[in-house]
Amino acid sequence: MNDSTSHELAWRSYRRRRNVAVAALLAFVLFLSFAIADVLRGQYWWDIGLFVVLGFFAAWTRLVIWKCPQCGNMFFSRPWRENPFARSCLHCGLPKWSTPNSANRGA
Ligand SMILES: [Zn+2]
Repeated sequence: MNDSTSHELAWRSYRRRRNVAVAALLAFVLFLSFAIADVLRGQYWWDIGLFVVLGFFAAWTRLVIWKCPQCGNMFFSRPWRENPFARSCLHCGLPKWSTPNSANRGA
């Protein structure tokens, strides 16, 4: 497998993790709005809510620990710093969606 193919697979993995994380965020927000409305009416959804909250945290953790295809470190996380919306790797500066041919490898 060449560098370009492994980068494409890595970005495809990132895209899948990002989509799952965004879906989990939407589910979390929907659950919160229903839960708040039901708590106000005296009903509770905590059994369903537990799965929604755990799914949300699992999906976002999976996104944040995704490894950079160039340097192998966590793309969105450094010690004491985390940014799941970063446009480039927080370790090597590889721009999001770039391949070895289009990346600026200068540091
Ligand atoms: Zn990197």
